Amino acid sequence: MSQVFHRHCHTPLRTAVRGEGVYLFDQHNNAYLDACGGAAVSCLGHNHPGVRQAINTQVEQLAYAHSGFFTSEACEQLAEQLAAKAPGDLNHVYLVSGGSEAVESALKLARQYFVEIDQPQRVHFISRRQSYHGNTLGALGVGGNLWRRAPFDPILTSAEHIAACYAYRDKHAGETDYQYGQRVANELEQKLLELGPENVAAFIAEPVVGATAGAVPAVEGYFTRIREICDQYGLLLILDEVMCGIGRTGTLFAQEQEQIQADIVTVAKGLGAGYQPIGAMIASSRLYNAVANGSGFFQHGHTYMGHATASAAALAVLQAFEQDQLLAQVRRQGQGLAERLNQRFASHPRIGDIRGRGLFMGLELVQDRDSKLPFAPHTALAARIKQTAMDNGLMCYPMGGTIDGVQGHHVLLAPPYIISDNQLDELVDKLSLSLNQVFHSMA
Ligand code: PLP
Repeated sequence: MSQVFHRHCHTPLRTAVRGEGVYLFDQHNNAYLDACGGAAVSCLGHNHPGVRQAINTQVEQLAYAHSGFFTSEACEQLAEQLAAKAPGDLNHVYLVSGGSEAVESALKLARQYFVEIDQPQRVHFISRRQSYHGNTLGALGVGGNLWRRAPFDPILTSAEHIAACYAYRDKHAGETDYQYGQRVANELEQKLLELGPENVAAFIAEPVVGATAGAVPAVEGYFTRIREICDQYGLLLILDEVMCGIGRTGTLFAQEQEQIQADIVTVAKGLGAGYQPIGAMIASSRLYNAVANGSGFFQHGHTYMGHATASAAALAVLQAFEQDQLLAQVRRQGQGLAERLNQRFASHPRIGDIRGRGLFMGLELVQDRDSKLPFAPHTALAARIKQTAMDNGLMCYPMGGTIDGVQGHHVLLAPPYIISDNQLDELVDKLSLSLNQVFHSMA
């Protein structure tokens, strides 16, 4: 019996022994096409020589120096590059070890900002139902995913929730996408008026919803209206790009495609591409200056923040983006993936919706396309698809969840940006085979 405390106590895991390009290999040398980058992490694929070299060089010089005593060249350069590439005045980069730490940092900064500018009554956070922003208590506390919250609910900080922007299920008959987006965005204003807008610190959302909904972008105009409401009532907009950021949707930051700028953005996953654990909270100059000109101290920190080796890895990731023009590649291969998914699944009786942006795509699984009837939770559909796909040499990310009371299942795809046309064919073939095997076994 393994002494590792694995999350799933009764599901045996294969042992990964090596990786090469878009493939991982297990202890029996079986290959798995990594169609989800683990959890949208491995954007450069496995065993990237440039990143490997950068890590080795950094470790030989300086692996780590505590941020209370030193900064490092790697950390400074990474912050400079992220600030230069981030939208508008998102100029102040706080480097941490992952997504939840980035979100915790964002929540703390939002709160401290209002303390610094003498609005200490702003204590509420608002997010969307079914959202996921991380598993640490603060991040879990703002999230709206009932299943993830359930056992911990009594010890979570409270947050207020409004509707998700999820047109496939929620749009009314006769409503345009734009009208739908305005209606659900306006729920933020209603919630503010309920709470007293002067009491609210921030609204947090993912520009393209990842794990909990399966690559669902907001409809046109939604985020413009959200930004307007935040500006009108003086609360901050935190955009969580932990999963959808760092090129995944075809632009370095997903919010670029919404033509808005957050007050704080969080990124992680693709930033280290799996070679090192790293995340970042990037704050606007207004927020940074309030702290710098106020107390002069951000009252939050972690032992591994500004980690030199993790920063060197992330710098090499960004360098690979430039050298190999990977953002253009994401847009091109993303279109190729969308076309292949549509060709294969657009009239599939069990696929209700195909959506996403760039190399971040989702399929919604339904019992019936017309009624959009979802599969019941007891079918364990997600676990069956994951297992069957692995047996067929494919890693994909199926999930079940409840969105505004409706239980749904989806498969999330987030392959490495280096995926070739042939590998896209292989991905869709193996996915189609796996889904059909599972649906037949349930018939
Ligand atoms: N935010 C979003 C949108 C995520 O998808 C995740 C992880 O899946 C997190 C935050 C938490 O990141 P981590 O698991 O690195 O703590």
